[in-house]
Amino acid sequence: MKVITTIQELKTLLSSINKTGEKKTGFVPTMGALHEGHLTLLKEAKKESDIVICSIYVNPTQFNNSSDFDNYPITLEEDKKGLISVGCDVLFLPETKEIFPDKPLINFSFGKLESVLEGKFRPDHFNGVALVVSKLFNIVSPDFAYFGQKDYQQFAIIQQLVKDLSFQIQLRCVNTVREESGLAMSSRNMRLTAKQLESSPFIYNMLLKANEDLKNGEKPSLVKGGISQLFDIHPDFELEYFEISHPSTLQPVETIENGAIISVAAFMGEIRLIDNILI
Ligand code: AMP
Repeated sequence: MKVITTIQELKTLLSSINKTGEKKTGFVPTMGALHEGHLTLLKEAKKESDIVICSIYVNPTQFNNSSDFDNYPITLEEDKKGLISVGCDVLFLPETKEIFPDKPLINFSFGKLESVLEGKFRPDHFNGVALVVSKLFNIVSPDFAYFGQKDYQQFAIIQQLVKDLSFQIQLRCVNTVREESGLAMSSRNMRLTAKQLESSPFIYNMLLKANEDLKNGEKPSLVKGGISQLFDIHPDFELEYFEISHPSTLQPVETIENGAIISVAAFMGEIRLIDNILI
């Protein structure tokens, strides 16, 4: 696996290994501290691409909480081993001066798509995501790009970005990979204490319970109310939102017609966890 830190070197390498442009390239952008969820994205990329590129860059512009940014886990040597084990060809590992030599002036706005869920609670988060993803798409210019369902709203925003800016890239959304307990894998999980880890499956169990309640004909507003109360009485969680939304517009729904996305964000101490299921 080649490890590349500059845009110029990356462009030179990609044009030398893909001279005729016939090879398909698959791209997986990440912030590192890789786990099986990330590696599953890379395995999917490997299935349909001749050249697989992963980027690791902890993007400061998408953090609205400086302590979350400062404490974001970095496990580079382990990450490289994982990437090699799944046959990644190129690791792009830029520094901030390469990606953001100056403070960008451009501002993305995604209207109603970002006024809910994560966008509502993390102001400017999706502006930072769209900025870095646009830059990486321009730098890597892949045929395919892979994202996780765990960040469902992020995927919706990137779909919109690709459409609005005519990126010639096919997007893939990969199912959430979970621990046996049901906890969605996340780089932030490694900051949970043993006690927090023990109670963490509660999040996924609440998503499953909401799904059951909806199947039994309960109204979304009642389901949300009931689950919020269960979070309120749980000593280890502080709920930020529990929402039942339209799977494309992401707006809250009062009835389930063509499926829905059930999403949750909750704090365990300082660690903010998110999860969702599509129904
Ligand atoms: P991150 O490093 O957190 O920015 O994540 C990089 C990519 O991996 C994003 O597209 C995430 O949605 C995806 N991802 C993170 N956790 C998981 C998971 N448990 N299952 C599947 N994809 C994931």
